Amino acid sequence: MLFMLFMVKWFLSRSVSVAYRLREMNKKNNYKKQVNPMKWTAEAETAIKKVPFFVRKKVRSKVEAFAGQAGKDRVAIEDVQAAKAHYMKNMDEEVKGYRLDACFGQGGCPHKANDSEGLARRIESLLENANLREFLKQQVNGPLKFHHDFKVTLSDCPNACSQPQIKDIGIIGAAVPAVTDAECSMCGACETACKDCAVSLDACAGKPVIDWERCLSCGQCAKVCPTGAIAVDRYGYRVLLGGKLGRHPRLADELPGIYDEDSVVAIVQWCIDEYKRGSTKGKRFAELVAEDEGLIKRLLEDIGDGRFVNRPYSVRPLCNGHS
Ligand code: SF4
Ligand code: SF4
Ligand code: SF4
Repeated sequence: MLFMLFMVKWFLSRSVSVAYRLREMNKKNNYKKQVNPMKWTAEAETAIKKVPFFVRKKVRSKVEAFAGQAGKDRVAIEDVQAAKAHYMKNMDEEVKGYRLDACFGQGGCPHKANDSEGLARRIESLLENANLREFLKQQVNGPLKFHHDFKVTLSDCPNACSQPQIKDIGIIGAAVPAVTDAECSMCGACETACKDCAVSLDACAGKPVIDWERCLSCGQCAKVCPTGAIAVDRYGYRVLLGGKLGRHPRLADELPGIYDEDSVVAIVQWCIDEYKRGSTKGKRFAELVAEDEGLIKRLLEDIGDGRFVNRPYSVRPLCNGHS
């Protein structure tokens, strides 16, 4: 059971990692080319079937890779047990010091507001260069655990499938709409598409009106507009800092505004530097944000006015039952 729990945790911690997402296509192609897939004994099959279905495929391939490295073409129960022992013993080595996740927007999700692939690569490079594992090894008394990782996630739209609200840094893709000079047919498609009741039609002006207090910059109104009377003005990102789960969970604070890619990279670097300056004994960045009321103010002063939309942030009432 411990092994199953560990493998589930291991898989979930990397299930939508950026590296995983970028490798998916190659892995699919390689799988198709595989002429002689590895065989499993009945006993090993029984063991792997005890792994929850939603991670079974990944755990299976991990065990196969482990057996393959030992020169085997058949997985026996001993290989499952050896893989278990290996991963239990080497949990510390599995901790990279950071975790960068993303939603599945890059896989063609129709809700995607912005394309974050380039940004994800830049952030991964910052995290790698920060040597966070070495930093944690010096700070933490004892073996590293997954909860020590500095966590960053990207969601490509406000649906926030990768849970940016509970990560040290959460980034949400944004497509900022604008009303253009193009003719509006008053078809109402934008009103219907907006889950936040942020678009209404002004019959006198013959134009749509956007309520900026409600708009989350998901870009859906622009996607459905047949005439271009609403179009995407700018693409960017919302940035949330200081979310975490654990014994003392907290939701991240959202920075005011919407930021371009360079500004987001600057924010992430600033946060990494601040984390390495202020964290001791494995203290999470989210805890630094929670303890230091001036942290976000200093960040905004240091990075300058990189935001291109001064999006107000306020608690909005729910709209049509959407959350
Ligand atoms: S966050 Fe948005 S773009 Fe990403 S998977 Fe969820 S719905 Fe799709
Ligand atoms: S007005 Fe509505 S549909 Fe359009 S971007 Fe804003 S939240 Fe999305
Ligand atoms: S803005 Fe576009 S989608 Fe909205 S009513 Fe006008 S034509 Fe239709």
